[in-house]
Amino acid sequence: MTGKKKKQKPSALMAPVRLEPVLAYPCPKCGAEVTVRARHKAVTLVCEKCDTFFGAHPLPPAALLSIQQVFEKALAAIPKPSVVPENAYVFRLVRPRDQLSFALAIDLQVLLQAFTNNYEATIKRLGGTRILTTGQIYDMSSFEGFATANITNPNSAARAFIDLSADGDSLAGLSDYSLVAFEGVCSGFMGQHNPNTLLFGDCALVGVDGYEPEAGHIFDEIVFELPISSKRNRSSRNIVFTRPSKHSVE
Ligand SMILES: [Zn+2]
Repeated sequence: MTGKKKKQKPSALMAPVRLEPVLAYPCPKCGAEVTVRARHKAVTLVCEKCDTFFGAHPLPPAALLSIQQVFEKALAAIPKPSVVPENAYVFRLVRPRDQLSFALAIDLQVLLQAFTNNYEATIKRLGGTRILTTGQIYDMSSFEGFATANITNPNSAARAFIDLSADGDSLAGLSDYSLVAFEGVCSGFMGQHNPNTLLFGDCALVGVDGYEPEAGHIFDEIVFELPISSKRNRSSRNIVFTRPSKHSVE
């Protein structure tokens, strides 16, 4: 294990649930500002500095209403946090690659089910096939030029144990719960004791930091796009890769 796995990414930016007008009144004795949520009834305020009680003029109901309408508009203009999406992921490439070499994009859960339903047939069909899939890194370690990571699909309990050819620069930026795309050769279950864990070899991380494209979002540069309707796409989501911005992968 390395120290870097402790590095926490900040959670998603939150948007306010409510904007409220606040009124500030001068204390009649010391002049300090006393603030209170706007309301249309007279209130008694107390100055925190000098403990003076005083009455405050309310906001006329019509004024309060028009302020609330403006505030609702303003609230709508604040971007909502991007959440881990269920049907669309965008990945920036760890390193620019002209061509992705996987033969099939498949969901971990789908892959796991295929093995569970008919192990022999699945091995026969997919043996040696380079597969692209996505999920969240939750345990990362590196040893003598190789790295291993457990990965779990955001929408399922399926897990994969992946063997990575170490790429110092791309791995250094990863931490627990990084959302990644990786390609590798799946060789089936890890074993009887880990019936829900798939084993991948010869893996390369091809993307990090998935996020949901906002409706109408224009990407600077799409490197590769695999729509959900594509024959090669056996996953339940659109897959889009964009080039990393210069400082996005440290
Ligand atoms: Zn005062």
